Amino acid sequence: MSTFTESEERQEVRKAVARLAGKYGREWFTERARAGEKTTELWLEIGKNGYLGINIPEQYGGGGGGIGDIAAVCEELAAQGCPLLLMVVSPAICGTIIGRYGTEEQKQRWLPGICDGTGTMAFAITEPDAGTNTHNITTTARRDGDEWVLNGRKVYISGVDEADHVLVVARAEDARTGKVKPVLFVVPTDAAGFEYTHIPMEIVSPELQFQVFMDDVRLPSDAIVGDEDGGLAQLFSGLNPERIMAASFSTGLARYALEKATTYAKERTVFQGAIGSHQAVAHPLAQVHIETEMARLMTQKAAALYDAGDDFGAGEAANMAKYAAAEAACNAADAAVQTHGGNGITQEYGVAGLLVATRAGRIAPVSREMILNFVAMHSLGLPKSY
Ligand SMILES: Cc1cc2nc3c(=O)[nH]c(=O)nc-3n(C[C@H](O)[C@H](O)[C@H](O)COP(=O)(O)OP(=O)(O)OC[C@H]3O[C@@H](n4cnc5c(N)ncnc54)[C@H](O)[C@@H]3O)c2cc1C
Repeated sequence: MSTFTESEERQEVRKAVARLAGKYGREWFTERARAGEKTTELWLEIGKNGYLGINIPEQYGGGGGGIGDIAAVCEELAAQGCPLLLMVVSPAICGTIIGRYGTEEQKQRWLPGICDGTGTMAFAITEPDAGTNTHNITTTARRDGDEWVLNGRKVYISGVDEADHVLVVARAEDARTGKVKPVLFVVPTDAAGFEYTHIPMEIVSPELQFQVFMDDVRLPSDAIVGDEDGGLAQLFSGLNPERIMAASFSTGLARYALEKATTYAKERTVFQGAIGSHQAVAHPLAQVHIETEMARLMTQKAAALYDAGDDFGAGEAANMAKYAAAEAACNAADAAVQTHGGNGITQEYGVAGLLVATRAGRIAPVSREMILNFVAMHSLGLPKSY
């Protein structure tokens, strides 16, 4: 094995997941989305085969692997046209935070369901008024005897309808200093006072986004994850996995778009030779292939650093990977549509739907501008701009 090759074990995981997802495929995925149905069979099958919780310790039902492993699973699903956004959220963000900061009891309670897919967990930080500036969130957690009381509103929260619980980021007042700090709570989606409404999006996916309203949601004292005073570190521990997974989601979609485009470019003939013999068609595809491979390499680097315990190094690489992957995916989707000509806009060929799906990668979970801010400040040492 060379330094630039993934382990044989991970390569085998990639092949197995690609085979599994290939049985379902893009057509099945988009039909489900357009019919307002879910992809639960696929979710449960990857869970049953141990891929959903591959990054979670074995004693809690997981595979004992790292973020690099679950990122590989996420990428291969997307590369088969079945991108599962909830993989970013449930096993990677929630699984990591609970695995690192949860009590033994919480780990035993939540992680097995995250691993086998029967206890999916959504993640809610974004708020309408705070947006990107998560320091301004106003969802509050107040102590009332042995209980916590949550009030606030969240927006664009993925998969609330498929989740039993949501890991909610709120602010609580520090009893000693009086300062407000971010605190994490596991909130059941059927709790009294917890309501959600669907936000119609232009993304063709069975996974949906929601507004969440919490009105005096009462939670037991053990609903808090981690230390009441150490919220920021706990919250940040989920960010690198989130970015690495988002990058893999995008590189998977880029590979899918490129595969569709090159297949079509080899078959379609309108003048002499297949359209792929014209450099005007071939070069954009070659270009996105290069961009995608570079993004994959940076994603693997970020995952390797993270799995080796270098959170700081992983932070820079994960941001760069997420940026590069989103750009590659947007360019791949655009080139795929162009290669298909008019067919590129039809539902039958299914490439136009990728335009919005890949475009979302430039906005969520962290926007390209905020990544450029991070790189300008932390990598280049430029002054903070916001
Ligand atoms: C498909 C999808 C799924 C999502 N799922 C979830 C989820 O499960 N859970 C969750 O909590 N959130 C989720 N989100 C929310 C997502 O994380 C936010 O949309 C994202 O963080 C951007 O916030 P915003 O939409 O409020 O944009 P805003 O903060 O309003 O930003 C608008 C624009 O201004 C730019 N901007 C803002 N400040 C600066 C600055 N200082 N410098 C440069 N540019 C700046 C931004 O980059 C952006 O382009 C999801 C979003 C989408 C689209």
